[in-house]
Amino acid sequence: MRLNRSFHHTLLRLCGWYLPFVVAGIVLGQVWMAIAIASIAVVAWHYLRLHRLLDAAIHDRWFPAPEGWGIWSELESQLHRRQRESRRRRARLVELLQEIREAASALPDAVLILARRDRRILWFNESGSRLLGLRYPGDLGKSLTHLVRAPRVREWIDSEPRDDSLGEVRSPVDENLRLSFRLVEYSADQALLVVRDVTRLSRLEQVRRDFVANVSHELRTPLTVVHGYLDLLDAEAHPEWEPMFAEMRRQSARMTQLVEDLLTLSRLESQDAPVTERVAMAPMLASLRREAMALSQGRHQVEAHDRADLDLLGSAKDLHSAFSNLVSNAVRYTPEGGRIEITLEAAADGGATLAVRDTGRGIPAQHIPRIVERFYRVSTSRSRETGGTGLGLSIVKHVLGLHRARLEVESEVGRGSVFRAHFDADHVLAREGDDAGLQDIA
Ligand code: ADP
Repeated sequence: MRLNRSFHHTLLRLCGWYLPFVVAGIVLGQVWMAIAIASIAVVAWHYLRLHRLLDAAIHDRWFPAPEGWGIWSELESQLHRRQRESRRRRARLVELLQEIREAASALPDAVLILARRDRRILWFNESGSRLLGLRYPGDLGKSLTHLVRAPRVREWIDSEPRDDSLGEVRSPVDENLRLSFRLVEYSADQALLVVRDVTRLSRLEQVRRDFVANVSHELRTPLTVVHGYLDLLDAEAHPEWEPMFAEMRRQSARMTQLVEDLLTLSRLESQDAPVTERVAMAPMLASLRREAMALSQGRHQVEAHDRADLDLLGSAKDLHSAFSNLVSNAVRYTPEGGRIEITLEAAADGGATLAVRDTGRGIPAQHIPRIVERFYRVSTSRSRETGGTGLGLSIVKHVLGLHRARLEVESEVGRGSVFRAHFDADHVLAREGDDAGLQDIA
């Protein structure tokens, strides 16, 4: 409609333009000459309008404001309107970007956009400078792993599969700051790294740990005294009290064990990395078997199989404590006549697995994810009866965590369970000397 109107208008104006020329041409007897002059003027005028538009487009200037009704005015009016809209949209986008930047700067967490391939920093907010010491714009384009030198961060970022987050990392800017890292790979080539200041939380956690450790430590002496006096009590003088004395001795032994386990956990929690010594596995297996037999007192069949020519790298004391917790659980939760098998095997990935298999009562599937929690028990009465503290598997989890090993649990109610501690190749050593050789430890 609009288009037709513009064309008609232009046509009318064209007729209006030619008319005087034609009349003058007839009067002067030079019609064709007059039409030619009028046409040259029309072409020149169109050329000028076109030039005006092109000039505005090339130099990104405002298209001329529409004037009149012809086709050129219509074209200018359309272009002018579109240009106004697009400028308005662009201004809104710039405003939005500015707002997002301001919000990102106000964030107390450091937010970094990284290239997924080489971990180059593409963008970071102000907290990135405060928490990680990044400089703007000098550090843009540099690799994060060159700038944040903590080996834990590098290993975590390169690991596959990677844990969701990495906690308690010292800030490169301030020794007292504790940071937690979280990486979200949100597109094929970019990832978001969120670094949070967890100093306060980690202080609270430290206070909690210190409290548990101090209480446990303070309980140790009174318990030793009570335990000592209970041992001295002369049951023969009062035979009717003997069951009471026996119960008191059992309970004080449990309390002592509880305190020892809590102290072990506190020690493990405050440790960053384990001692790295060669842990000879042949004597370890023999010792685990002896412990199982002592605990079983002949009620179970105990076997140890040494199927890997490998030793472990780590803390012998902590690994022994973890394995003996697994073995003691196997004995305690397996009824008389059952079989307990302790096996060391080489794993396909170059690592090693220590498996403790029993033919005991098993664990219902819904409990398995929670049994490593402190004081979590499938059956409280059974655990108490067998002298459990509820902390054994927590200790196992911590020791394995420190050795970057993982615990796998398979269990079937009524048939038995397998607890496997899997160590990666970095924590495994080929055996040397006399211990070399595969054997069953009878
Ligand atoms: P506890 O001192 O109670 O044994 P743990 O942390 O060692 O504490 O184990 C947690 C719970 O897991 C136990 O209470 C028990 O119910 C279950 N559990 C652990 N090992 C076994 C096993 N080999 N067979 C059956 N249940 C087990």
